[in-house]
Amino acid sequence: MKIAIAGSGALGSGFGAMLYRQGYDVTLIDGWEPQATAVKKDGLHIDINGEQHHLNIPMYQDTEIPKDAKYDVIFLFTKAMQLHDMLQHIQSHIHDNTIMVCTMNGLKHERKIANYVDEARIVRGVTTWTAGLESPGHTHLMGAGPVEIGALVEEGQPNVDTVFDILEKAKLNPHKSEDLQQSIWKKICVNGTANALCTILECRLSNLNESDYARKLVYKITQEIVQVATVDGVHLNADEVYNYLIDLNDKVGPHFPSMYQDLINNNRLTEIDYINGAVAKLGAEHHIEAPVNQFVANMVHAKEEQRHAK
Ligand code: NAD
Repeated sequence: MKIAIAGSGALGSGFGAMLYRQGYDVTLIDGWEPQATAVKKDGLHIDINGEQHHLNIPMYQDTEIPKDAKYDVIFLFTKAMQLHDMLQHIQSHIHDNTIMVCTMNGLKHERKIANYVDEARIVRGVTTWTAGLESPGHTHLMGAGPVEIGALVEEGQPNVDTVFDILEKAKLNPHKSEDLQQSIWKKICVNGTANALCTILECRLSNLNESDYARKLVYKITQEIVQVATVDGVHLNADEVYNYLIDLNDKVGPHFPSMYQDLINNNRLTEIDYINGAVAKLGAEHHIEAPVNQFVANMVHAKEEQRHAK
């Protein structure tokens, strides 16, 4: 079975490393030239929960994948705004049964992926593994997951089983989600509050809990997300989700979320259009207003512009 990781930054190379260590035939693919060059030249240096590994995993830049290469399973791990380009680069390497796995943050990636494979071949999900990229070729993977996965349509269930077995063998701690859409929307609540607010306020997760104003914003954003989630048949209780988020912020208090790290530390563009922006857009499509989510998305964009983020 040939596996490709399409988008091998922090999390992609982490998953790639876990699969490679179990003997899977894995190829890393990435669009950022420094990352591709570093791994091709000197392998991947990765810290997995404190253990150092140096792995010579095959790697291609997305523009140089051999013409005849075909992959049976492709894990998509780009940033949301890079997904379209990556799909274009890999489309000729997809065969009639290729399974596409997407556990990226953000809403509705399946709409884009469905332009390349039918819905039954898309395995969607979310993950709480955390990863970072210190410099090209040097990354870390932390935590224990899980990776929650599910099918978009009933016929996709056998593909979920296949991906589950791969992830389980690679010790990536898969779970079959009992309600895929609910798992996705709950993760949107986490990202739409913690990522967005810590980036705007330039603070740690624990700081959100310390401010009455910030906690009210967490509540209001959550309330809107919960209302918009109903268009996907997801019925969450805003108070329960809010309590879960406050608890989570306490547990991972000293941490700066990934959006903060992208924009504030590295001046990189954020996935805000696929999180709060996507909530507001989807809401508008269904006549449900989400003005606080739109405001938060605009604030993050203003900050990106101010910092000339790329
Ligand atoms: P990433 O930013 O590390 O990698 C995405 C792309 O950006 C890769 O092509 C990578 O090589 C490139 N890149 C990395 N650092 C760069 C830099 N400084 N300058 C220019 N390009 C750079 O993204 P990720 O964290 O692996 O996330 C992939 C997807 O997984 C996203 O949707 C993210 O939200 C989601 N996710 C990430 C984590 C995490 O802990 N990293 C956890 C859960 C979900």
